[in-house]
Amino acid sequence: DHDLMKPKGSHRLRKCPYLQRQNACQRITDANMFALISLPPGMDKAEWLASNTVAFFNHINLFSSALSEFCTPSTCPTACGPGNMVYFWTDDHGRKLKCSAPLYFDYAMSYIQELLTDEDVFPTKAGATFPTGFIFLVQKVFLLLLRTLAHIYWSHYSEVLALDMHPHLNTLFSHLTLFCQQHSLLEPEDMKPLQDLINPPQNTEESFN
Ligand SMILES: [Zn+2]
Repeated sequence: DHDLMKPKGSHRLRKCPYLQRQNACQRITDANMFALISLPPGMDKAEWLASNTVAFFNHINLFSSALSEFCTPSTCPTACGPGNMVYFWTDDHGRKLKCSAPLYFDYAMSYIQELLTDEDVFPTKAGATFPTGFIFLVQKVFLLLLRTLAHIYWSHYSEVLALDMHPHLNTLFSHLTLFCQQHSLLEPEDMKPLQDLINPPQNTEESFN
């Protein structure tokens, strides 16, 4: 097997073109991300989570819509992500459905939209209280948003590059993952397949320059 003879880094890069440094380091802003994600002094934490959930949803929904013509049941028969993870949609009866990526992300976006417009879950009136279990719903939304970006990196990176959208994608991804880390919104196991993107490996310099 010739692959065994090559440096580990180049093998990984061939499989994950999104890790190539010249593209991976592109951002649309030099803003201090830590300042952006931290809870502003005096603000209610649930309010902060809610407003960010809405903002991330709007951005990611728009971003994935821009790529929707490339994500079809024939190009993407499964909803997959880095490490060849396959995401299953769990229906209202708890059944796991194996479905194409466009169908999975359609379900995901509709599910989130429904939650965000439900006044009992995401109240918009001043002084309204957030429901018990609010945090679990927020966590679920962020998991679905993370998977949306993960699928784009894994299956549609060449289209992203061709459209010159990678600085936006990288910025959105960094912002989202930092926000989730700061507010403990994702399980380590959900982040693990994306670890190379969150903290690009430092020990593969021969293939990164
Ligand atoms: Zn796709």
